[in-house]
Amino acid sequence: MSNLRFNALLQAIDRPTKSIKEEGRRSELFMSNVFDLSTMRQYVAREAYEAVNDAIEKGSKIDRSIAGQIAAGMKEWAIQHGATHYTHWFQPLTGATAEKHDAFFETLSDGSAIENFEGSQLAQQEPDASSFPHGGIRNTFEARGYTAWDPTSPAFLFETTLCIPTVFVAYTGEALDNKTPLLRALQAVDQAATSVAKYFDKNVSKVNATLGWEQEYFLVDKALAAARPDLVQSGRTLIGHASAKGQQLDDHYFGSIPTRVLNYMRDLELECMKLGIPVKTRHNEVAPNQFELAPIFEEANLAVDHNSLLMDLMDKVADRHNFKVLFHEKPFAGINGSGKHNNWSLATNTGVNLLSPGSTPMKNLQFLTFFVNTIKAVHDYEELIRASIASASNDHRLGANEAPPAIISVFIGSQLTAVLDELEKVTDGKLSPQEKTELKLNVVGKIPEILLDNTDRNRTSPFAFTGNKFELRAVGSMANCALPMTVLNSIVAKQLIEFKKSVDALVQDKKMKKDDAIFNVLREYIKESKKIRFEGDGYGDAWEKEASKRGLSNNKTTPEALKANISNKTINLFEELNIMTRVEIEARYEIQVEEYAMHIQIEGRVLGDLARNHVIPTAIRYQNILIENVRGLKEIYGSSFQTYAFEQIRIIEEISEHIAEINKGINDMVEERKKANKLEDTEKRANAYCNRVKPFFDSIRYHCDKLELLVDDAIWPLTKYRELLFTR
Ligand code: ADP
Ligand code: MG
Repeated sequence: MSNLRFNALLQAIDRPTKSIKEEGRRSELFMSNVFDLSTMRQYVAREAYEAVNDAIEKGSKIDRSIAGQIAAGMKEWAIQHGATHYTHWFQPLTGATAEKHDAFFETLSDGSAIENFEGSQLAQQEPDASSFPHGGIRNTFEARGYTAWDPTSPAFLFETTLCIPTVFVAYTGEALDNKTPLLRALQAVDQAATSVAKYFDKNVSKVNATLGWEQEYFLVDKALAAARPDLVQSGRTLIGHASAKGQQLDDHYFGSIPTRVLNYMRDLELECMKLGIPVKTRHNEVAPNQFELAPIFEEANLAVDHNSLLMDLMDKVADRHNFKVLFHEKPFAGINGSGKHNNWSLATNTGVNLLSPGSTPMKNLQFLTFFVNTIKAVHDYEELIRASIASASNDHRLGANEAPPAIISVFIGSQLTAVLDELEKVTDGKLSPQEKTELKLNVVGKIPEILLDNTDRNRTSPFAFTGNKFELRAVGSMANCALPMTVLNSIVAKQLIEFKKSVDALVQDKKMKKDDAIFNVLREYIKESKKIRFEGDGYGDAWEKEASKRGLSNNKTTPEALKANISNKTINLFEELNIMTRVEIEARYEIQVEEYAMHIQIEGRVLGDLARNHVIPTAIRYQNILIENVRGLKEIYGSSFQTYAFEQIRIIEEISEHIAEINKGINDMVEERKKANKLEDTEKRANAYCNRVKPFFDSIRYHCDKLELLVDDAIWPLTKYRELLFTR
């Protein structure tokens, strides 16, 4: 066996299982490293505490002197808990998180030293951020970027650093991060949903979007992963023959969790508790070495921050246990990929889940209002939702047969379908008293309060209603949830604004009663959005044909899908709601398209290197061994050697044929890369990478994988699928 692979396997197998000591009850650990409101209350005066509370509840601004008080309290708390540094923690458009640590430590003119942290340092920082993606914004405006404190997400202590969640914006005001548009979208949906919720309950003054993500991932041994340049550099295996046993026996799903993995999970969960990430469930997923982690849902901005933080944390904790986490959507060909379901709903400050059916007809009319409006929003903006989950890595998953297709549709189950069918029959105009009674008692009144157990589960739907929430299942495991959450909340906000306008118009102009007007508008929406509803098998070919007949989009690749991000319809939506300006939208598009091209470019290079520097030389070594053997047989048996060397000669020839194919594939691919790189226009370059470079990956891989099967296992340099997937 090659040294690298042999050592890696030895290391992996020899790993001692570290046992984890639970440090007391989890409920007591929970939030111990978070400077949340209740902790803040102990460290700052009432005035400062209330200012932060108002900022969270009402979005009010915090003035400088108050920021000073809060900074002082934060510093005291952090230092007591062992902090030496602080950082503004933000989410630039790379999709990852960024931080630059500064020490509290400062020297004074008399030579002595103190720990210092002022309000201005809490409120605003200017990271030297010229290397973050900005899509031309900063060049155009020659503006510098700054980070600004987001008081709605509490500061936390990570190792010895106080982390302050912030937004990242250009001095000219354009957002340079994922959080800023999300916060604006959440504000828009709050306003729009609050005014609609007031139809049903005057006491509602705020609506929060809620998000509960489910994070899927693979866990592989660190040493085994390190012996795979493709995993290290591109996050997925670019070659590798399927192992004899894969996931066909379905014996991994919900099976018992291997001890070493369980220790990792417990360690991770303890860290999550301290940071206030309310993780709740863990289990094995479908593929070998694939797992899932899910928290209790939270307010969407906090949930997004927590998911980003969790991904960082997972990397760090995995390292302690000699694992590597694979967040890639498709790290192994032929094996299930990973997603990140986004469970989403709307909750009022009065404690009502607006997507939860209620016990009275009135509550159910409220439920139906938000339910139908969400469906209508998805109907109107399905292409934008598809764009919000597009990435080079997620392309391997969408449309492949374990993930939702690239077509967005909504699944609601047979019971609610029946309700919508009934509502479609509502008379146009004012309803007669009999009609109203009939509707209230027999249609709206009959929606069961608890749908959870009754909803049929359709796992193939990308956007499914699951009893008291919608679940967007097409999000990639590597993605930052901010993107799809910004889109979903924006389109629902826009839809609810339209809804309110239409209802109010019927009430004022046509003198309709409020509930008559609501029924009338909902009826139209149900009719108009019918084509987005699909209850069948989303994985089948039949659905692709049907969806195309219905006029739904089916954008299979990222460059194709991303175009919806800069359509006039999208720009109008975001500008109207003050979520993003045209400049911000276009800059983001530029970044995404460029990122896509770079991603494929890197994969192409890594694949070329692997094939040329690992696979071909190894195949030649083995071929030489065979040639030596044939030569020996010839010496012994003279002209009748062929009888004994038949198999060897056949393999020698096959190796040469595969090598020739690989070489040709790489040469052609490199030619196409050169052509693509010459294209000035980023959109054209992305298209070239997608349509002209990427297609070579499969054929090069095919021949490499054939060689893996032919060549002596003892000299194969790369850890194999069976080793990566079954060592734990
Ligand atoms: P699965 O999709 O694996 O069957 P569930 O249907 O049990 O899982 O969904 C669980 C996820 O849904 C959890 O992450 C949970 O926090 C989230 N969730 C539950 N209620 C809500 C809600 N009202 N808003 C947002 N997320 C929610
Ligand atoms: Mg789910």
